[in-house]
Amino acid sequence: MRGDDIGVAVTINFEEAVFGTKKDVIFTRVAKCADCGGTGAAKGSSAETCSACGGTGQRRVTQRLGGMQFQSTVTCETCHGTGRVIKNPCRSCNGTGLTNTRKTISVSIPAGINDGERIVIRGQGNDGKNGGSAGDLIIQVSVRRHSVFEREGTTLYCDVPVTIAEATLGAEIDVPTLDGVRKYKIPEGTQPGTQFTLRQCGVPYVNSPSRRGDLVFTVNIEIPRGLDEKQKDAMRAFADSCGENNYPKRRRLIDRLKDLRNNK
Ligand SMILES: [Zn+2]
Ligand SMILES: [Zn+2]
Repeated sequence: MRGDDIGVAVTINFEEAVFGTKKDVIFTRVAKCADCGGTGAAKGSSAETCSACGGTGQRRVTQRLGGMQFQSTVTCETCHGTGRVIKNPCRSCNGTGLTNTRKTISVSIPAGINDGERIVIRGQGNDGKNGGSAGDLIIQVSVRRHSVFEREGTTLYCDVPVTIAEATLGAEIDVPTLDGVRKYKIPEGTQPGTQFTLRQCGVPYVNSPSRRGDLVFTVNIEIPRGLDEKQKDAMRAFADSCGENNYPKRRRLIDRLKDLRNNK
C-alpha cells in the first residue's frame, strides 16, 4: 500500500518569492524501520507465511442462506491481509515495520512563485506499509505582503509621491524597485494618478526566470503642509498669476455647469 502524502506549510518573504530561495523544511515522516528493514520481524527471524490463508491474505467463506450457497472472499483476520505472520516482532517498530523519523530537507523555491502555490517533492512522504511506495511531500507556500509593492502575477505596483513642482515642471524622480532605486523622468504637467511602466523590473516568470514582468508606478501628488506665511504668500502670488487656461479640466467643468443652467 502506498504511503500517505505529508503536507508542510512554509511562509516566505515577498522578495524571496520574487527572486527564489532555499528553505530547510523540517517534518516527521513514517519511514521503514531501520532495525528490521521494514519486515517487522526481530533480527535473526523472519515473517512466516500465514497458515490460515496460505499466504494469499484472503479467505473464501461459504454461507447457506435460504437454501442457496453464497461464496464470498474476506480479508484474513490472522494476518490482516498481508499473507504473512510475525511470530517474533521487532522491538523498535512493534512489528509494524515502520517508525516515525524527523527529517530536514533543503527545498529550492523557484523565483516568481505565487502565494498559495504548492511544491510537490516525490517520494518524501510516508513510506508505505508492507513495502509499499512512499507518498509525496507537499509544501504549501505562503508569501508575506510587502510594505511598498503589490503584486499581480508578474506585475509589481507601487505609488510614488511627487511634489507639485515636480509634477508641474517635469522632473527626474526616484522610483523604488526590488533591485534598488531607479531614476525616471516624468513629463511637464503630469496629473495625479498617471501610471508609468518600468519594463523588466517586475517578477520573473517561474518557467523562464530570465524574463521578467513590469513595474507599474502611480504618481501621487503630495500637497505640502505646514507652510509658513512667506511660503503661503508665494503660493498665493503663484495662484493669482494663473489663468483658466492653466486649468483646462476645471474650465471644462465650469463650462458644463453653465450649459446646465442655461438649458433649464
Ligand atoms: Zn522494526
Ligand atoms: Zn492470513
